[in-house]
Amino acid sequence: MNSKPVGILGGTFDPIHYGHLRLAEEMLELANLRQIRFIPTGIPPHRDAPQVSAQHRSAMVQLAIADQPAFVLDDREVRRDTPCYTVNTLRELRAELGATQPLCLLMGGDAFLQLHTWHEWEQLFELAHIVVGYRPGFTLEERIHSATEELQRHYHARLCTADILSQQPCGGIAELAIPKLEISATDIRRRVAENRTIRYLLPNAVANYIHQHHLYKPC
Ligand code: ATP
Repeated sequence: MNSKPVGILGGTFDPIHYGHLRLAEEMLELANLRQIRFIPTGIPPHRDAPQVSAQHRSAMVQLAIADQPAFVLDDREVRRDTPCYTVNTLRELRAELGATQPLCLLMGGDAFLQLHTWHEWEQLFELAHIVVGYRPGFTLEERIHSATEELQRHYHARLCTADILSQQPCGGIAELAIPKLEISATDIRRRVAENRTIRYLLPNAVANYIHQHHLYKPC
């Protein structure tokens, strides 16, 4: 088998910004992905509810990715009205895309070190590869000792290079050095609430949408 993997980037995207978009663009290139599906979370099990509705968050993702044909909005999680677990989303994608299609779950190093807290986390490896972005100079290898023993065991057994990802449907862990832009959705929401500028932190189309719909303003 040698089929380009499909990447999956979940997030609250409240709102989507250039940090997410650069992460996706770099992973597309470095992991030689066919496509990246942006999957906004509906009701996230691990954190506070997003500030704006699923419809607004999906609309902003759609505007942000409009000019990159390899990026696709997948709004399956926001159409559900129950908490969404990644493992269930991956099961659905696996059923739709077939048993042999390589799938790559994309995440940052901090998220990976907390993987053992995810629902049915060991099943994730039966469904997808995990591709971890780390800041150059802050390798996962140096930080993995802070993870649980089980997670360390998976890490050492499954670590592979990016070229392996297209040869297996799931089960590998690949690390990619990706500079992290110092942009967060929390900071963007705070700036909007304080009437401060958000230009150059996210695409203009998304900034215009936020202003037109009066999002992130205190009521
Ligand atoms: P918040 O500030 O509301 O917590 P966020 O900006 O961190 O949000 P999320 O939607 O929670 O955005 O992130 C989705 C994914 O994007 C996560 O895997 C996260 O690690 C990654 N990510 C977020 N911001 C950046 C960034 N600046 N550079 C690289 N990756 C990022």
